[in-house]
Amino acid sequence: MATVALEHVSKAYGTLIAVRDLSVEIADGEFLVLVGPSGCGKTTVLRLIAGLEAPDEGTILIDGRAVNDVAPSARNVAMVFEDYALYPHLVVRENLDFALRIHRTPADEIRRRVSAVAASMELDGLLERMPSGLAAGEAQGVAVGRAVARDRPVVFLLDDALSHLDARQRLEARAQLGRLHRELKSTIVSVTHDQSEALAMGTQIAVMDEGALQQVGPPRTLYEHPANVFVAGFVGSPPMNLVEMTPAREGDRLVLRAGPLAVPAPTRLADPAGRSIGPLVTVGVRPEHIQVAAPPGDGDIRFRARCDLVEFLGRQVLVHIRIGDVGLMALADPAGHVRVGDVVDCSIRPDRLYLFDGRTGAAIAAPAPGAIAAV
Ligand code: ATP
Repeated sequence: MATVALEHVSKAYGTLIAVRDLSVEIADGEFLVLVGPSGCGKTTVLRLIAGLEAPDEGTILIDGRAVNDVAPSARNVAMVFEDYALYPHLVVRENLDFALRIHRTPADEIRRRVSAVAASMELDGLLERMPSGLAAGEAQGVAVGRAVARDRPVVFLLDDALSHLDARQRLEARAQLGRLHRELKSTIVSVTHDQSEALAMGTQIAVMDEGALQQVGPPRTLYEHPANVFVAGFVGSPPMNLVEMTPAREGDRLVLRAGPLAVPAPTRLADPAGRSIGPLVTVGVRPEHIQVAAPPGDGDIRFRARCDLVEFLGRQVLVHIRIGDVGLMALADPAGHVRVGDVVDCSIRPDRLYLFDGRTGAAIAAPAPGAIAAV
């Protein structure tokens, strides 16, 4: 299969910069998922790799070879679009071999390629079925299988391939994609709007904002160690609570304050005078790390908050709490029976707090890896 690398790639449409100085390396066999708000440049990145767009600056390499001047058809890359575009009037076998027949591939070569694809992707039982009779994950398998049989691509590009599926179909298609990735050992670059899908499927996640790469890494690294406040707020659902706080020296301690909410500055902050953290910081805490109406542990930050809203999520409830002007979301056990209007005791382990520079958004401190692993 193949490696893909983008080196300082930029692409503008008129005055709009869709991709800004993007550098990323995708290892052989990696499943990289691009995420970010609508319009941040994800699809443009796929189109640049596929050769459907040319970069204004920078180099795109596939397997170490610069492909800026290589035609899309010669890049060994397959792009699978959202709607799969199977031929509705042809059975699966004909969908798989249609392009090969058009190109007058010898019959025994067609048979060999189709049976190899059908076997490796478990499509054997589907060959005589019409596309309308396929489950979503199966249809997706056929769309990918067709690309494999036709082009034998080394890189797959999936543009929001699961977006039109319902929740159950998505789970099924997600599992199928994961299996395909293991079977084909191909390099996959995928775009999704669904970040739980990204976290579940990607071996690497790349977060983009306004055309620029914010962070790339394994899902867990991004979740536990976001590089900046944008990634912290974007990765994770419900999102991390982010509160702007002002550092203040109180006796020999540095305390971060937002209205009545005060938290001790994490001891990990290097500079005891507090100079290194500037006049404003953003403090982050994940909803699962706020204890609501549960016994606090030794040394926990404690506060009382009013419950504004309780959302039942099934295994958990999402409790919206308020301390002065500060609103936070906490995940709690439904058995806790927190109700709207209750004033509840809350606590946070100090080593669960994230800290970001209030001006640049860059991470200053994140929980130690051991603190998270112990959840
Ligand atoms: P979405 O999540 O909504 O699909 P995206 O992150 O994939 O968005 P792109 O489709 O890559 O974003 O678009 C990035 C920016 O470039 C957007 O502002 C979009 O309007 C603009 N853009 C994309 N293609 C073109 C084009 N052919 N001409 C002009 N502007 C374009």
